Amino acid sequence: MRNTVSRADIIRGRFSGIPDSIRPPYAIAEEDFRARCEPCGDCRKACETGVIGQDGEGFPILLFGQAECSFCGRCAEVCTTGAFRKSHARPWVATAHVKSNCLSFNAITCRSCEENCEAGAIRFRLMTQGRALPLIDAAACTGCGNCAVICPNQSIEMKNRETEEVFA
Ligand code: SF4
Ligand code: SF4
Ligand code: SF4
Repeated sequence: MRNTVSRADIIRGRFSGIPDSIRPPYAIAEEDFRARCEPCGDCRKACETGVIGQDGEGFPILLFGQAECSFCGRCAEVCTTGAFRKSHARPWVATAHVKSNCLSFNAITCRSCEENCEAGAIRFRLMTQGRALPLIDAAACTGCGNCAVICPNQSIEMKNRETEEVFA
């Protein structure tokens, strides 16, 4: 869990005002999820990283500004309503995107995202004038959000890989 105050505060600021639509991993389709989820909060209490929060109606949402998801699956395991299905090929549709304010892209040395990506989904393309562009391998990216949490410059956002919508 990555929850130092300074970093979390930075990221929370970055995500403010963005639709809070992403459900925990393995959640079933949104309409069905809302029909089944009670919402009791059991998944939130079971979450080992603390990345699950609540939306305005009490339904669970992912707060990438608070922590990353380890994909431990506890949220799905404790839920008794059928709102999760662990047989999903992908736990969710989030993927990381690097913004143009990236420090490395602007010739300031930084490799934090690459160093903290357990999936090995980030590599750097060297450019002129001391710049290097982080490239996300969409096939390898699990959407865990760790890079977004760790980035010191709010340069990574999590998007729905199908719609390009920016997640909360
Ligand atoms: S998979 Fe684990 S870390 Fe991720 S939201 Fe569920 S309980 Fe939390
Ligand atoms: S951690 Fe952020 S600022 Fe640093 S290289 Fe990665 S995207 Fe750029
Ligand atoms: S979201 Fe997770 S898997 Fe994807 S690039 Fe970031 S750290 Fe790597």
